[in-house]
Amino acid sequence: MTNSCSSLESCRSCTACPLSETRDQVVIARGQPKARVMLIGEAPGAREDATGQPFVGRSGQALDRLLKEVGFDPESDLYICNAVKCRPPGNRRPKRSELLACRPWLDLQLDQVNPDVIVLAGATAVDAILGLKQAMTGLRGQWQTWQGRDVMPIFHPSYLLRNPSQAEGAPLDLTRRDLYTVGRRLCER
Ligand code: SF4
Repeated sequence: MTNSCSSLESCRSCTACPLSETRDQVVIARGQPKARVMLIGEAPGAREDATGQPFVGRSGQALDRLLKEVGFDPESDLYICNAVKCRPPGNRRPKRSELLACRPWLDLQLDQVNPDVIVLAGATAVDAILGLKQAMTGLRGQWQTWQGRDVMPIFHPSYLLRNPSQAEGAPLDLTRRDLYTVGRRLCER
């Protein structure tokens, strides 16, 4: 890396991958820095790039609605971030080289927050942390373990926006159940 990863503030001037050339803002995190739950998504989109906050566009709003439905306060109960901190042009998926370049920042966040439970939103986050490349339909809702922590994969909120059915067993319903499961695990610990 071209920057030290000893402090998250220095992430704001990171130029360790080409995404630094096209971003407006580095998007680090929102929520509670000592939360028991850390939610990791893929990468910032246009609204996130403009505001410097993760998950604040339509999919972020959908995520917040679901979190509130199951009893979480998104600002005080979670630390919310992405695997990659700068927006990929056109919202394409981050390249493996970009995920690798950004990983020290994610590791620093994991160290600092030290969450009991990690929620991985979407396939890119699952691949980044667990190294699993299976379909999310098979992974979501199944507890995994990473470095002694409980890890829950869920559908990415943008997938939920594309699948808005409120029917029982639909992605929205399944994600609500997965988040309830996370809440129950926190109560058990
Ligand atoms: S995506 Fe990560 S590694 Fe690349 S420039 Fe942004 S902060 Fe640095």
